[in-house]
Amino acid sequence: MSDNTEKKRSAAPDSGSSGTARSAENAFFDVFFTNASEAIFITDPKGKLIAANPSFATLTGINVPEAIGQIPPILKSANTDSDFYNTLMRSLKRKGSWKGEISSNRGDGNICREWLSLSSRKDPKSGDTTHYVGTLIDAATQVSQSLNKHYYDSLTKLPNRLLLQDRLEFMINHARRNNQLMALMLLDIDRFRLINDTFGYEIGDKLLQTIAERLLTCVRDVDVVFRSGDDEFAIILEEIAHQEDAAKVAKRILTSCAGPLQVNGHDVHTSVCIGISIFPHDGDGKVQMLQNAEAAMLRARETGLNNYQHYKPSMNARALERLTLENDLRSALSRYELCTFFQPQVEIKTSKITGMEALLRWKHPELGMIPPSQFIPIAEDTGLILSIGEWVLRSACLQTRKWQKMGLPLVISVNLSANQFQQQNLVSIVESSLKNSGMTPDLLELEITESMSMKNPEETMKMLSGLKDLGVRIAIDDFGTGYSSLSYLKRFPIDTLKIDRSFLMDIPDNPRDAEIVKAIIAMAHSLNLSVIAEGVETELQAQYLVDNGCAKMQGYLFSPPVPETEFERLLRKQV
Ligand code: C2E
Ligand code: MG
Ligand code: MG
Repeated sequence: MSDNTEKKRSAAPDSGSSGTARSAENAFFDVFFTNASEAIFITDPKGKLIAANPSFATLTGINVPEAIGQIPPILKSANTDSDFYNTLMRSLKRKGSWKGEISSNRGDGNICREWLSLSSRKDPKSGDTTHYVGTLIDAATQVSQSLNKHYYDSLTKLPNRLLLQDRLEFMINHARRNNQLMALMLLDIDRFRLINDTFGYEIGDKLLQTIAERLLTCVRDVDVVFRSGDDEFAIILEEIAHQEDAAKVAKRILTSCAGPLQVNGHDVHTSVCIGISIFPHDGDGKVQMLQNAEAAMLRARETGLNNYQHYKPSMNARALERLTLENDLRSALSRYELCTFFQPQVEIKTSKITGMEALLRWKHPELGMIPPSQFIPIAEDTGLILSIGEWVLRSACLQTRKWQKMGLPLVISVNLSANQFQQQNLVSIVESSLKNSGMTPDLLELEITESMSMKNPEETMKMLSGLKDLGVRIAIDDFGTGYSSLSYLKRFPIDTLKIDRSFLMDIPDNPRDAEIVKAIIAMAHSLNLSVIAEGVETELQAQYLVDNGCAKMQGYLFSPPVPETEFERLLRKQV
């Protein structure tokens, strides 16, 4: 071995050759070892340095020839605790390898983060570890191509869930050692699935990129933003001084991500929900921190769009309950656990049932009857509402046709959820439901809520026109609870306003509600719309409505929602 070669590979391992005619394999190893941009080092089974390449010296600042025979500082940094090393050693023993982020002291007082990948080499005969080979990459700047693919999301260029797991563990250990607070935030894009379905994947992807960019502007340089799932992001806020600091960041994010966002020329209405867990209050390890931030995020989603929640212990029970319901709901349709009840709508003058509202019910095998208020939000979040809603529509049409054939031409009201209403093919689904059942279109009334209709009035107008062309009726449900624009209300091709139950509860005693009800009835008349009051429970309420010109009612005073056979009994009673 010439002097020159010896100098170049001054710290390269003893390849095992006698030093005379080295094999081509060894020569190749030499070149690779010397020129690799990753820092590579080799230790004996005790961790003592045998060899290291020039990149290792550059990255760590270690004088390699002097360090030979010693344990390199990166493996015994004061910054890493015994738990960390136990885990590392266990993994090396069990799997023969370990990968993760470490922090090391460069000797100049600067703490640096590096990606360490260690693997053991064994003697093929005895199976004993002969040495360890490690590669080091500067976590901040030198991310290699292979790591890039593995740990980074190609769309947003953010680190992915794998890296989140590693980094979170690292940051928790760091915070624990230094008695610091840190926060984990999980963010979910409200109705992302719907946006994807409505505008297509290209816009969906662009939206993810836009949100990723906005998130980066809301955090400090030391904080890390991850894309942790399809429409999920995570942020680790390290070394926060107070819990409220996380809330401040969350508020900044909510403002920054609140729609409409301009994506490829489209106005995309969106927002995010955020769940926050704080170390050490909300979890002492990675798993618990993630679980609790997730529970908080679910709670935020339930609370409404565009909000954040800090984890509270009570959320776990709720999250578990919700998760169970979510799983069970996936198979509810195929297991015939869903059914519709019917609630009569009565014309006061004649006391006759003129129509009914189809109201969804879930007979859970263990939990009994679950009200729609509990499972419809889950169905909406998971996208299951589309198949469930279609099923309600189809079975309601078949039922109505059956009653029509019996000489009972009743109008059936079917509720549409926001997701269904934004579905591109809603018109064709309604059309085929009508065709399959053979019912007359004017007996079908589709209910959309006031807030749904006003969210994007131009789109609403298009969808309503398409539906009206089929000959069906349109009702605005829960009227009075949203913010209607009178000018749109005039332009929408609607037939009915349904006065929300909340206004009827205290009438006639509450003069304000009484006035509102009176005004809604008058407005419906002036717009030439039919009006129906829902949730009528007392004779006094009914009398007030009649006195003010509301001819149709629905409520417990007449009948609660009932199963099909019971409804038929009510019908027979009146003939
Ligand atoms: P909604 O469409 O406003 O339906 C009226 C709700 O008021 C029904 O609750 C009904 O049972 C209840 N109700 C009627 N009369 C009275 C009364 O006199 N007193 C009281 N206290 N309540 C009365 P339900 O069946 O629990 O449904 C709740 C909501 O769930 C519905 O509100 C609707 O928004 C949604 N929903 C029900 N079925 C479906 C469905 O098939 N698809 C969709 N997308 N939503 C549905
Ligand atoms: Mg309704
Ligand atoms: Mg209603």
